[in-house]
This record gives sequence, structure tokens and C-alpha cells, in this order.
Amino acid sequence: MGKEDLYTHTPMMQQYLGIKAQHPDMLLFYRMGDFYELFFEDAEKAARLLNITLTTRGASAGSPIKMAGVPYHSAEQYLARLLKLGESVVIAEQVGDPATSKGPVDRQVARIVTPGTLTDSGLLDETRDTLILAIAPGMVNTAPGNETVGVAWLNLAAGRFQVTQVNTATLPALLARVRPAEVLAPDDFAFDGAPCAVRRLAPWQFDPGGAQTRLAQQFGSRDLAGFGVADLPLAIAAAGALLDYIQTTQRTALPHIQAIHAERDSDFVQLDAATRRNLELTETLRGEAAPTLLSVLDTTATGMGTRLLRHWLHHPLRDRTVLTRRRDAIGVLAEASDAAAAINRLLKSCADVERISGRIALKNARPRDLSGLRDTLALLPGLAAALPDDRARLADLQAALAARPDLHELLASAIQPEPASVLREGGVIADGYDADLDELRALTRDAGAFLLELETRERARSGIGTLKVEYNKVHGFYIEVSRAQSENVPDDYRRRQTLKNAERYITPELKAFEDKALSARDRALAREKALFDALLDTLTPHVQDLLAIAAALAETDVLASQAERAGTLRLNPPEYDEEPGIVVCGGRHPVVEAQVTHFIANDVSLTRSRQMLLITGPNMGGKSTYMRQVALITLLACCGLWVPASAAKIGDVDQIFTRIGASDDLAGGRSTFMVEMTETAHILHNASANSLVLLDEIGRGTSTFDGLALAWAVARHLVTATRAFTLFATHYFELTQLAQEFRQLVNVHLDAKEHGADLVFLHAVEEGPASQSYGIQVARLAGVPTPVIHAARRHLRELEDAQLQPGPQGDLFAAHLPNDEPPPHPALDQLRELDPDTLTPKAALDMLYALKAHL
Ligand code: ADP
Repeated sequence: MGKEDLYTHTPMMQQYLGIKAQHPDMLLFYRMGDFYELFFEDAEKAARLLNITLTTRGASAGSPIKMAGVPYHSAEQYLARLLKLGESVVIAEQVGDPATSKGPVDRQVARIVTPGTLTDSGLLDETRDTLILAIAPGMVNTAPGNETVGVAWLNLAAGRFQVTQVNTATLPALLARVRPAEVLAPDDFAFDGAPCAVRRLAPWQFDPGGAQTRLAQQFGSRDLAGFGVADLPLAIAAAGALLDYIQTTQRTALPHIQAIHAERDSDFVQLDAATRRNLELTETLRGEAAPTLLSVLDTTATGMGTRLLRHWLHHPLRDRTVLTRRRDAIGVLAEASDAAAAINRLLKSCADVERISGRIALKNARPRDLSGLRDTLALLPGLAAALPDDRARLADLQAALAARPDLHELLASAIQPEPASVLREGGVIADGYDADLDELRALTRDAGAFLLELETRERARSGIGTLKVEYNKVHGFYIEVSRAQSENVPDDYRRRQTLKNAERYITPELKAFEDKALSARDRALAREKALFDALLDTLTPHVQDLLAIAAALAETDVLASQAERAGTLRLNPPEYDEEPGIVVCGGRHPVVEAQVTHFIANDVSLTRSRQMLLITGPNMGGKSTYMRQVALITLLACCGLWVPASAAKIGDVDQIFTRIGASDDLAGGRSTFMVEMTETAHILHNASANSLVLLDEIGRGTSTFDGLALAWAVARHLVTATRAFTLFATHYFELTQLAQEFRQLVNVHLDAKEHGADLVFLHAVEEGPASQSYGIQVARLAGVPTPVIHAARRHLRELEDAQLQPGPQGDLFAAHLPNDEPPPHPALDQLRELDPDTLTPKAALDMLYALKAHL
């Protein structure tokens, strides 16, 4: 719309366009009476997204203005839907009084709601943190695709602010870990993999200089020296842009954001995005909440507990001290199971202190936030007393749950036992808290008695027995008399309203009372609002303490719930080993176990001398379950949680990688095979000797020879060059011969037994390669028609017969494995001379291609 068009609009629309121009890329909810209206493109978009009616009004430059609206009372529900779709909404409220203003009522932006900055209890998911993240790109002189970027993210509801610097290549992994609801990035910064709404900002907003000052000002410090971020200029730039955005959208001080924490990759066991997805930690591959590791483990009593457990599962740690303390605390609570149950019961009555504290800081707490906080504070002494003392982590928590009688007394005296849900209608501040309020309330309360007395008096005076004294919002107080009796009213009655069957009147006495009562009511409401705001101000300096209590509640909740889980799910404490390796006795997959009647436990031993297990066995035999359970047990141990195994000894693990399952990335335009090879390349480039690598069916998506050759080369590279602890499941039986070449590679298998016409999977992992693949039997179980099964059997026999003859159709490895003399080729000679310690993935692949051409 051109500027000159503006003058063709009504003053009301000019005001609208003025506000809209400040927020071109957000939807504007423009308050008009009982509705929020949207205009022009916003109206079309909202009509489409919310399925509401699109109408028109007036005209702009000759054509009608498109318009759509949502009722003010149900706006929250529409907001929630828009935010879920990644939209942001600017809410402009009427600030002037329509009755007294001459032009259009004045409107101002009251709040801006964006997916990453939500703090409203009605709009937030209580089981997950809502985070907003900003990315500041690196300097131009670094190679594209490999530059360093600064990243900052904030949990506004809890005031937690974190930063780090990463390589662009690892940005997707970071995004998968943090899972922001909204990402801020400069206009010109290209990246993919954001699982959420992306808001583009001008590049100058990421200026590191301005960021320093802005952050220091927010934290009330001279500079950022105390925060350990001095060597992270890009992270500071990201944090500055983020803070600026929050200040603009929230329009209030942010007293609960007091510090910034730098995160270092080396603190965590690294998981890439694919691994997080594949292991179904908190979401199934289909994106559902259950069954997942979290859904099986989560018996926490509060949203705070669920959120912390979710956070732990996504942030396995390497610091053994922290892990040991968590593990041991679960042990003490598991011993004292009555205490754990009592704690769980008490926690069930606790409010979400974390989010309430955030809302107090942001001045948008509601009455029930404060009554919830009051009731929770009352529970603290009982909780602290119920916690067994372990002189370690539980003792810390006990100290952190120390009672706050001062705050409890304040809230108990200020807030009604069951306050109204909104402040607007009153009924929030307790009687006896404020003398002025009590007096105003007495005036309105006495109204009831006065009106009854007036009614009796007027009935007697007029002789009309059916006369009623009543009140409604629009007409105020009135005396109602039926039409037939209206002749008999006294002279001082003034007609206020005529209805079909009745007349309504006012008298001077009633009018005088009305003025007093209504103004008393209005004044009481205003007084209540002022008292409530003052209460929030009084609480604000205590927000940090309240957040510390919230953190202690969350951790107590997780530890007590895990003590309960330990008993119910037969979990055991992991042991942490100085030596690298993963040794598990009687390990189980916690999610699969919950779904089958009898789960077969299996051992695993991965050590320096037993570095790779090559797993063979029939489809459905349990190979992927076995591999995943090893990863999950390792991960749980690195969260300090108890594990589904009779015993587990876990050495230092730096990363967990998985290449499991086949899924086309159709949206990303990559075939299954391409996805598989990309993930494999990523593993070969990044895994170290301390990593755990799971590879399932490498090389399946291409021709047999290609696939086999690739699988062979990958396995070999992992054993000799990477030396990562690896579980390698394959249907290429030929690979089992690698065990003869490398002593640190061991064959294990899962077996099945034919039982008449049935095939029984044993699910037990045994040493040695599988003897049969049972592919045709599995196909029969799956319902492939009998003639096809018979034909397959016949063809298999022909193939097996043919294999007896050496030649191109024969066993590839009989002819070509380095162990059995293949035809001479320079690439093979090079292969024999390889130094596994210096072999790069690229050299291995080059050689492989040479070899493949030769074959
Ligand atoms: P594969 O990867 O060999 O094709 P899966 O690991 O997918 O096989 O297992 C197939 C099914 O077998 C699982 O869905 C589960 O129902 C069952 N299963 C696997 N492992 C076990 C086990 N250890 N005990 C009991 N049932 C199991």
C-alpha cells in the first residue's frame, strides 16, 4: 500500500496501518469492542489458518477491505493455534475511553506473542521447555559451510540464558538438542534444519559491540568478564540480538535474566540429530510422545519434573562426579521407598513454581499463580523433612528446599484461599489485607441488605406487592413493576426503561445509592489491581530464590520418580569405569520390554580387545532391539540414571552415533541410500575411539555387490582407523569372515528355530555368526502368498547350487576377499599395506571405487 493511500482511509484505519507498519511480518490483532479484528492480508491468512469467516468493510482505494475477527473472550484459543503454526501475533488494545474520545479510540500494542517467548500458562505445554534461539553468523573470511557461528538460547519462562559457538556443520545437531520453538537469524544467513518458526532480523542487529553493552546493562555488571564468555564474541553477538528481541516483544523489565552461561561441547556426550531421532528418546520416529524412553521413565509428579527428565535425556554428561551423585541419590531413595512415595504425593500438589516465578518477573502472573505458589511454599518443610539425608546430592536439595515463611505469610495474608482466576472481576485479594479495600467491599456488600430493605419499604409505600428492586450491568439499579400496576406507582418514580410487560423506574434515593455503590465497586476493583501489582513488585526481588526452589523441586521429583521406576522396571545402578568400554550383563530394551510378554535379556561386552560386534541373524530376530538397548543403557548411565540391566560398567563415551532404519528424506530430495551414505560419512568423519557407533544394515539401498563392498570397507575402517566401539548388524553374511582378519572384531548372532511350520525367534545373542538367514520363512510369516514362497524356495536352491561353481555368480567373498587370494590388482596391494591409523575415509572410498571397478 502506498503512502498516499493512507489518507484515503478513515482515521481508525490510519491508526491501524500505523501500528501494522511497525510489525509487517506478524499478525496484528486489533481490538474493536468485543473483538480482535484482522485486516487485509492478515485477515486472509487468519481466515485460512483458523477457519474463520472472511468479510469486508468500507473500501480502500476503491476496493473493499478484507476483514476477519475473533471474539475477545476466546482469543487465547485462537492464539494457541496460530503459535503452534509458527505465527507471531501483535495485540493492540484500546487504551482510550470510547465514550470520551473525540476521534478513534487510542490503541497501543499491549503485547507481542511469539512461539519462542510464550509464558502464559494457557498457551504453554507444561511437559516441555519453550525456548528461543538466535544464530549469529561467523566472520566472512572462513570457508563457507565450515564457519563458526554464535548461538544463544533462552528459556524466558525460567530466565535461563545459554550460549555456545559451533561449526555450521554441527548446527543441526545443536538445534535437535535444544529444540527451540523459534529461531532468530540474520536475513542473509542460509541454513536448514530449523524444526520451527524462523524470524529474520537485519544483520546489524547481531553487532557484537552493541551486544556487550546491552548484556552488561541487563545483568547490572560492568562487563561480561565474570560470565566466562570472553572468548566467544559470536555467541555474545547472538545473545545481544536475542535480548533485544525479547525486550521489544515483552515490553517489560526482565529481572529474572541475571546471567549467561557458556556451554562447551566437551561437557556432553554428543548425539547428532539422526541419533536423537533414531533412539526415540522423547519422541517416536512418527513424532508421537509414546512409547519412548521418556514415556516409560516418566512418573514425575510435576511439569517441572517432566521437563527436567526430558532435558537430562537429551543432555548426557561426561562429568562423572555429577553422574555419581544422581545415581547414588536414586539409590538412597530406592532404599527408602516409603519416603520416595511420600515425596511423590507431596509434589503432586505443587504448582509450577518455575513458570510462576517467570511470570512474576514479567509482571504477567495471574491470581491463581500466586495462590499456587503460596500452597507450594507451605509444602516445602514437609518435603525437606521427607527427603532422606545422603550427605551428598539429597542434602543439597534438602537445603535448597528450605522454607520461606516470609513469602508464605505474605501470600497467605494477601491472597484469598481460592482466588478468582482473573483479576478483572475482583475476588483475589484476601479480606483483612488492606483496610481501604475492606471498607470499599463493605459498601458493596451492604448493598444487598439495603436493596432488600428498600424493596420492602417501596412495596408498602406503593401498595404493589410484586414490585422488585434489581440490578443489571447495562441499566444499573431499577425498580420493576408490571405493566398493569404501573398506574399505581408513586409520583417520585422516574421511568428508566419500558419493556413489553413491565416498566422500570428509578427514584432519587435509589439513584444516590447507585452512584455510591457503583463507584465503591469500581474503586474496590481498582484498589485490588493496585494491591496485586504491588504484590508482584514485592515478590520480584525473590524471583531468583524462587527459581532455585523450582530447580530443587524438579530434581527431587526426577530422582524420586526414578527410585520408583528402579523398583517397578527392575533397574540397577550403572558403574562408571576409568577404562573405555561398555560391558552390560542382562541388558534389556526398556521400551520394547514394556510391549512384549517375555523379554530376553542379553549381555554385551565392548572393550579395546573386542571393539566391534558383527551381528547377524534373521530379520525380526532382534538385532536392532539389541543395538538400541546398548545405546540406551549407555545413554541412561551418562544421565546418572539407573539402567535396565542386571549390571553395567560404562567407560567414558564422547559420542553416540546411530545409522539405523531406512527413511527417504523426500522433502530434502534425498533417496534412502543417499541419506544412509550421508549419515555413514558423518560417522566416519567424526567418531573417535571413545565413541559408540551403531550401524544397521549398511549398504542395503544399492546393488548387492556395491552394498557388500561398501559395508565391508566401512566395517574395516571402523575397526582399524576409527577404533570406535561398534555394533554392526548386517545381512551380508560374507562380512562375518572379517573376524578372521581382525581379532578385535567378533561375530555374534541372534537365532531362530523352525518349529514345524512356525519360526520361533530366540532373541538371545550368541557368539559366532548366524547359520541361516530365514528370509523366506520370515516372508511367509508376513503373509507373502504360498506360490511366491514356493517359487522363492526353488530359486534359492538353484542359486545355492550355482554358488558351488566358482565364477561371477558364485560367492563374492570366496573369490574376492583379501583372505582368499583375489586376482591381482594394484588397489589390493595398496590395501594390504594400509596403515589403519592414518587411513582417511576419503582414501578408503577411493580405493573402494578402484576395487569395485576391478570386480
Ligand atoms: P531385527 O532388527 O533383527 O529385524 P528387531 O530388533 O526389530 O529385529 O526385533 C523384532 C521384534 O522382536 C521386536 O519388535 C520385539 O517384539 C521382538 N524382540 C526383539 N528383541 C527381543 C528380546 N530380546 N526379547 C523379546 N522380544 C524381542
